[in-house]
Amino acid sequence: MLEIVGRRYDSDRAVRIEIEKDRILRITPAADTPGLPYVAPGFCDLQINGYQGVEFNDPKLTVEQVRKAALSQDQFGVTRYLATCTTDSEQVFTDSFGTIAKAMDDLPEVAARIAGIHMEGPYIAPDDGPRGAHPRQHVREPDWDEFCRIQEAARGKIKLLTLSPEYVGSAAFIKQVVASGVLVAIGHTKATTDQIRAAVDAGARMSTHLGNGAHPRIKRHPNYIWDQLAEDRLVASLIADGHHLPAAVVKAMVRAKTPARCVLVSDITGLGGMPPGRYATGLGDLEVLESGKLVLAGQRDILAGASQPIHLCVANVMQFAGISLQTAVEMASTLPARLIGESDRGLEAGEAANLVLFDLPKDENSPLTIRMTVNGGVVVYKR
Ligand SMILES: [Zn+2]
Repeated sequence: MLEIVGRRYDSDRAVRIEIEKDRILRITPAADTPGLPYVAPGFCDLQINGYQGVEFNDPKLTVEQVRKAALSQDQFGVTRYLATCTTDSEQVFTDSFGTIAKAMDDLPEVAARIAGIHMEGPYIAPDDGPRGAHPRQHVREPDWDEFCRIQEAARGKIKLLTLSPEYVGSAAFIKQVVASGVLVAIGHTKATTDQIRAAVDAGARMSTHLGNGAHPRIKRHPNYIWDQLAEDRLVASLIADGHHLPAAVVKAMVRAKTPARCVLVSDITGLGGMPPGRYATGLGDLEVLESGKLVLAGQRDILAGASQPIHLCVANVMQFAGISLQTAVEMASTLPARLIGESDRGLEAGEAANLVLFDLPKDENSPLTIRMTVNGGVVVYKR
């Protein structure tokens, strides 16, 4: 029996949480003492590309590397996440997803953390800008047979597919993918108003990192950002790392979508957690700056992916959008969990004992200070 005492993230009340095996058994009032950490449901990050030298987009990915990447997020309060691969050849997708699926099936500690796979691409816009850093030669139109082969290699573990609905067969393809039980997100797109509406009618329910993976200059209106902002059937994922979207954009997007339709993602890559310096990668020479910003080497502005974990995004969104701790935590925990069909009742008796204990950020540039992470009733990180 594990017992946790903390201050609830939603009510500020001091509580004692009793945990039996992997479940919350009971939550009762506790003495309110100074210095109690906050306690909240563990974070669920729908977009993690790797960490500290492990990239999921790696044809030579090993089960041991998946294990390392799975455990790497404990320190940030993440208890569930989607292993994410970006646009590549069918061979790289099948090899990589096969390895991730094997790690999930063979290793309980991986299955406890990785909830499934996010396939980001390859059915996205080929254009510079929307395509982002995805390699152009592997961008292609949607292909149901190919998707089925990749899903089979993934042992059915693809939970989320990000695509651009700009192709002739996009709507029909989205219908098939949704019917197969996979969440479809719109991203890396130059789709028109009509194409976005058709995609949502076909079952697309999310926008992937809205405001990123876009042209540097677009027509003021209409455009694919307004169209997705205004579409109430789409939940938007936002990268609130302070580099990908200015604070004003995060605030305006959260207000437009409403917090209930926003989730936070880190989009962290294999260079996350690496010391500052230059690295040769599949995307060319990249550089991790002292600030943690990840850029194309030799300059300081063009982003080459994210390198900041979700606990910083939670801290930032409170500040950028002027929202409460409760709202920010829900954007990073119960709301994304619900999207991928995981239980989403949060801190309640009977729920899985996936918890994070933390202190509020030290200053406006700091993440939450994670004190403890509990995954499936086991303390997996302690500061
Ligand atoms: Zn992306």
